[in-house]
Amino acid sequence: MDALEKIKSFSIYMDYEAAEEVRLTGSSAAQVKELEHLKARFPVAQACLPNGQTIPLLKTMQTSACENNCNYCCFRSGRDTRRASLMPDEMAEAVVKLSDAGIAKGVFLSSGIVNGGVTTQDRIIATAEILRHRYHYPHYIHLKIMPGAEKDQIFRAMQLADRVSINLEGPNETSLSRLAPRKTFLDQLLTPLRLIEQIRQSNPARLAWKGTWPSSCTQFVVGAVGETDLDLLQTTEQLRSHFKIARAYFSNFAPVRDTPFENLPPANAWRMNRLYQAFYLLRDYQFNLEEIQFSPTGHLDLQKDPKLAWAEQHLKVHPIEINRADYEELIKIPGIGPQIAQKIILSRRYGKIRDISDLRKFGVSTRRAANFILLDGHQPAYQPALFNE
Ligand code: SF4
Repeated sequence: MDALEKIKSFSIYMDYEAAEEVRLTGSSAAQVKELEHLKARFPVAQACLPNGQTIPLLKTMQTSACENNCNYCCFRSGRDTRRASLMPDEMAEAVVKLSDAGIAKGVFLSSGIVNGGVTTQDRIIATAEILRHRYHYPHYIHLKIMPGAEKDQIFRAMQLADRVSINLEGPNETSLSRLAPRKTFLDQLLTPLRLIEQIRQSNPARLAWKGTWPSSCTQFVVGAVGETDLDLLQTTEQLRSHFKIARAYFSNFAPVRDTPFENLPPANAWRMNRLYQAFYLLRDYQFNLEEIQFSPTGHLDLQKDPKLAWAEQHLKVHPIEINRADYEELIKIPGIGPQIAQKIILSRRYGKIRDISDLRKFGVSTRRAANFILLDGHQPAYQPALFNE
């Protein structure tokens, strides 16, 4: 197999590794078809970068061999599956080829573990060094930090990457031990996440790629071992507060043949959506965890957007006056996000907003907002737009 063939062989696994993907909402049928075509050939995802730019991102692995035995993973040790490995030279050359061909303009590089996390991390770093220094690769690089990586390795990876990540897998030691029996929560996963933030805080940014330290993130496997949504969001909030992670990814569990979890049911797809909605409320909408509604068993309502659930409890009897509300109040109204809230505040300089059709012009989903707002003292009657909102 040549290097590009090996990269193609990683496609199945990379579907489970969330990077910066976006859904192609609003994209033309031709764009969707083109992406599907690329994905069929290489593990390429349409990705939204932290700066808002959208690129085709190659998601690949240094090797699909692994000595670990994570119970959900198709590459766990001992499983009869096709394996492939790329040397750092080979991988870097393949990434550059795909970039020159216009197929991928960025790379997310992970790996199975061979000879321990430290040796594996060295190979990942070597690939990134070749990309940056031999090929002067200018594009986005997201590097996975291996369980147990050492501080100087994390530092070096951070000098080369635009983003680094460590998969926590479960929200606590108990969940992790059931998902990935050979990984240790504190030593191998939480400590490197802490070190990333420590490096950002204690070193001048000029030492980093493009003069900015990379952002960090983590990923959880959802729905295999009984963790609750509250567990996941509590841990995510602590990681954001203490280690300044930019975001968490929630990857729905799907059973893989010939693994210990092969007979478990797949996670409900709505669960992942609700977790993301709650995560964004906490990160971008100034909600706190106490404001998110959970069932007595610690789960989000699968049937209802958590922002709508909050609004029905709090805003139905006390709707918000759009002409007086501050930014924090506006973004708590269903159908209004941070950008729309800014537009509303700006427009109020030029007069009162009296008509629901004015809100529609700012992009407000009036179908969602109407029950929770007042316009100049009056609750607007929702009138359907001519076109679907
Ligand atoms: S460390 Fe675990 S999740 Fe990663 S490749 Fe190995 S078995 Fe799979």
